[in-house]
Amino acid sequence: MSAREVGLPMTISAAGLPSAVTIWEVGARDGLQNEKTVVPTEIKIEFIERLATAGLPIVEATSFVRPEWVPQLADAAEVMTTLAKRDNVRYPVLVPNERGLDRALECGATDIAVFASATETFAQKNLNRSYDEQWAMFEPTVAKARAAGAPVRGYLSMCFGDPWEGAVAPERVADAAAHLRDMGCTELSLGDTIGVATAGHVESVIRALLAKDIDVSTVGVHFHDTYGQALANTLAALRCGVTIVDTSAGGLGGCPYAKSATGNLATEDLVWMLDGLGISTGVDLDALAATSVWMADQLGRPSPSRVVRALTGAN
Ligand code: MG
Repeated sequence: MSAREVGLPMTISAAGLPSAVTIWEVGARDGLQNEKTVVPTEIKIEFIERLATAGLPIVEATSFVRPEWVPQLADAAEVMTTLAKRDNVRYPVLVPNERGLDRALECGATDIAVFASATETFAQKNLNRSYDEQWAMFEPTVAKARAAGAPVRGYLSMCFGDPWEGAVAPERVADAAAHLRDMGCTELSLGDTIGVATAGHVESVIRALLAKDIDVSTVGVHFHDTYGQALANTLAALRCGVTIVDTSAGGLGGCPYAKSATGNLATEDLVWMLDGLGISTGVDLDALAATSVWMADQLGRPSPSRVVRALTGAN
């Protein structure tokens, strides 16, 4: 008998946790962007639709960066115009600047995300701007997206450590988060881009945000499992009032800045934990795991998610 067939995991709630968590599914964008294989457009669309069918309320769909920067997502326009969108599902897209925003809006995007850096070095390497200059670059994009009626999420990279600079002060992260909020971002995502956070550090960063009066209900956490800490860090964040968690179906997407195959926290690993805690997500874990096995077949390699392997016998 499989664990699911005999009703596992047993559901027992724990103190200090929310009753529901919103999962922000990044597999089709962050996941596929960081996979070596370029997936055919129709497979991406089927993937996104299957994720929505599995109950994910937010399925980040693609990125309107220049195709030569991210060839894996060069078909952003086709994905967004072909996708059968559902009324109760959000399909955010990443945009680097106003030009990308214009393309995204033309393709029917109604949910936008921009990506900033908490550190100087990564701002220069990823955005070709200094830490201070990046805000001026994002400001007109965020304003225009808001004027078009779109919510805007501000991704913040390197919130817990930077491969060139090392430690990042929590106050620095809070300063960057406040910049994004003040320019009009409606939501934030704190990225542990190289997966070096530990639980106390997570609490410290969230406390620093609260000290800047940032509304914790707008804050998502984006942990990478590079050092096996992503679930522990997620639990720490939930205890601090966070209710939005970024994950990638099947753990798709290694991290290009960490010397490891493990990147994004797998959605299945999170759902297993939340199911056990009685925290509702709306996600059908079995349907999701089946989708990840199917996607792993498309990529020609197994899912790194332990829950996917345990539930499906895939290896
Ligand atoms: Mg990621």
